[in-house]
Amino acid sequence: MTTPPPSRLPVASAPASDARRYVIGVDLGGTNIVVGAMPEDGSREIGVRSQPTRAEQGSDAVVDRICEMIEAVITDARAEEGMPREAFLGVGVGAPGPLDRERGIVVVAPNLGWRDLPLRDLIGERVGLAATLDNDANCATLGEWWTGAAKGGRNVVGITIGTGIGGGLILDGRLYHGSSDVAGEIGHTTIDSNGRRCKCGNYGCLEAYTSGPNIALRAREALESGERSILPELVGGELARITAATVYEASERGDALAREVVRDTARFLGAGIANLLNVFNPDVVVIAGGVTQAGDALFEPLRAEVRRRAFKPAVEACRIVPGTLPGTAGVVGAVATFLQQRDR
Ligand SMILES: [Zn+2]
Repeated sequence: MTTPPPSRLPVASAPASDARRYVIGVDLGGTNIVVGAMPEDGSREIGVRSQPTRAEQGSDAVVDRICEMIEAVITDARAEEGMPREAFLGVGVGAPGPLDRERGIVVVAPNLGWRDLPLRDLIGERVGLAATLDNDANCATLGEWWTGAAKGGRNVVGITIGTGIGGGLILDGRLYHGSSDVAGEIGHTTIDSNGRRCKCGNYGCLEAYTSGPNIALRAREALESGERSILPELVGGELARITAATVYEASERGDALAREVVRDTARFLGAGIANLLNVFNPDVVVIAGGVTQAGDALFEPLRAEVRRRAFKPAVEACRIVPGTLPGTAGVVGAVATFLQQRDR
């Protein structure tokens, strides 16, 4: 390289950033694969596309599909912006953990059925580019920090709420991975020591209350105890079809039971986030994923709960905001992790 590596991720004004060099981001999830390219200065997303993961076809088929998508993104980007293939510096890959980042290996991915898969090198060698691997939730957090809702933050906590709850920590402008790449598992911090059983085997994890499926489950339990609601009507009487989105819809329509479920969700999340404020004293907490569709109905009681529980100077220093990169935070963050790992 002709320029010295920056100590921080390049931003538009940093000397090392370049709008003519590009990085590809891959966001591998249990349901979808999203791939796109960005210039090194993070100024735009190019050629972003999504395909179903189809993990049941096995790891070879999934890796094939990822590499085909990368080639298609490169072809599109070159048609759009006319750069040579050499302008692509590499590929950042975000995948479900736990991972071994140093060796580029997915250690266990229950949703994909993978064990000890050297994903980084399988992709990098196939497409002939340098590659890095990081946790998908870390990538989403870094993406929101680089170009989204947490931009400008120095210490950032990211929480992604979907089927599960992922988390990421940025401390002093860099992703914090911990001693064995486990840092940021916010979904599996305990908010009730005698609480609900979690998929991870522990009891009372934040995820056991506030993941999408568990929000729906709490609503179904309230219905089964005989509370009145418009929820059964919204799903044609099939309670199994209730999702977090159905609960938000009913809440918006003024349904008392759904409103209580959303308020409880806010209280549980507020307790979890208050813990994080007292430990990390972040300046931004960014919450992404489908659950943020509830908007102020969720965020206002959530912020109130955090105010009640966390130390005042920590509360005053922190804004708690919804993510602003729906669908692409993982890709943007995968590009950003490539740049941070390269510049270590
Ligand atoms: Zn758990």
